[in-house]
Amino acid sequence: MRGGDTMERVILIKYGELSTKKANRNYFINTLVNSVKNKLSDYEVNIHKDRAKMYIEFKDKDLESIKNIINKIFGIHTYHIAYIVESKDEIIKEELLKAIKSEEFNTFKVEVKRSDKKFPVNSQEYSRDLGALILKNTSDVTVDVHNPELKVKVEIREDKTFIYFNSYVGAGGYPTGTQSKGMLMLSGGIDSPVAGYYALKRGMKLDAIYFEAIPHTSIEARNKVISLSKKLVEYTDCINLHIVNFTPIQEEIYKNCREDYCITIMRRMMYRIASKLCEKYKGLVIVNGESVGQVASQTLTSMRVINEVTNIPVIRPVACMDKIEIMEIARKIDTYDISIIPYEDCCTVFVPKHPVINPKLDTAIKEENKFDYNKLIEEAIDSINTIKIDNSKSTEFRDLL
Ligand code: ATP
Ligand code: MG
Repeated sequence: MRGGDTMERVILIKYGELSTKKANRNYFINTLVNSVKNKLSDYEVNIHKDRAKMYIEFKDKDLESIKNIINKIFGIHTYHIAYIVESKDEIIKEELLKAIKSEEFNTFKVEVKRSDKKFPVNSQEYSRDLGALILKNTSDVTVDVHNPELKVKVEIREDKTFIYFNSYVGAGGYPTGTQSKGMLMLSGGIDSPVAGYYALKRGMKLDAIYFEAIPHTSIEARNKVISLSKKLVEYTDCINLHIVNFTPIQEEIYKNCREDYCITIMRRMMYRIASKLCEKYKGLVIVNGESVGQVASQTLTSMRVINEVTNIPVIRPVACMDKIEIMEIARKIDTYDISIIPYEDCCTVFVPKHPVINPKLDTAIKEENKFDYNKLIEEAIDSINTIKIDNSKSTEFRDLL
């Protein structure tokens, strides 16, 4: 805080939205504060927190980049860029007049919130005082309590007062890590990164699994998945991407099983591997981008026959969304342009001409029992290549190339 010509601004984050968490409130708040600290560790900032709010002192030059980071931190629903001043009548008035100079408006309204009851004037009275002060010191402006162009908010806390005119919408959701881990089945498509984003939004941590079928699929297809993981990791702290060599399983399926059941069986194998990886890496649920009715393997009958191989819950955040809606989110989170790069996926390489739309469980079981898939699954898991994707700029892929 300082007086003089340059007023100090802070990013003010209130936890109002987390207040429904009652007993867990402190845990949610501490997790959020830690997320903010970690994400801003490259910046010169001071982070202050108490039970009701957090505020961040920053260097002016960093404001835009810090906002970009804040916009991806789950658990923040709204935030404000606020001037911070001492909670003294004459200082508040002086600084408010200074702050308002950089705003353009014809109509305004003042809203004071006084949580420091020691401050001598009550909220309503002080709103009127400040309104009168603004009218006296600005020309051609009027008060409009219903639809003002400028909302002047003044929050008087015990030792500090925050003055702000804006409100930015944050990422919403719950802070990263307030839920346990899920295993995201991440293909190079449009749907699964969106599914991952929604899972992260609920506070989950994620590992990701990508099934590849080299040489039928290319290194470029894998790089696409790595790029998508890097986009997703901006919303969390770290994603371990497990790359599974699916080629032997794929080839055995196509050699041994009825063509129209190949996709059903392939997906049962994916679910089996995902379930085993959940056990190995402490994932509590599987997350994927299945959407009801999108393709033959995503009819309700197919989902049921495929899901039958596991009793681990499968969360499908985009299950009931239209493709258009999913694409909209993909654009918003900047994964769309990567997802549409045309490289083959293991699902697209081996597509049968007429995949079964209403598979029967006993037929699927009979077909897949034509080869020793358990052994192949073990081998696939033993040869998994895991890359840790985090927010540092230098995520290394050397060992893979
Ligand atoms: P997306 O659904 O991500 O757009 P897609 O349409 O190619 O990709 P689908 O065939 O619809 O994939 O598969 C449904 C879901 O199964 C995907 O959203 C993804 O979660 C998972 N999945 C499919 N292929 C793979 C793969 N090669 N590796 C990991 N997960 C996969
Ligand atoms: Mg899909």
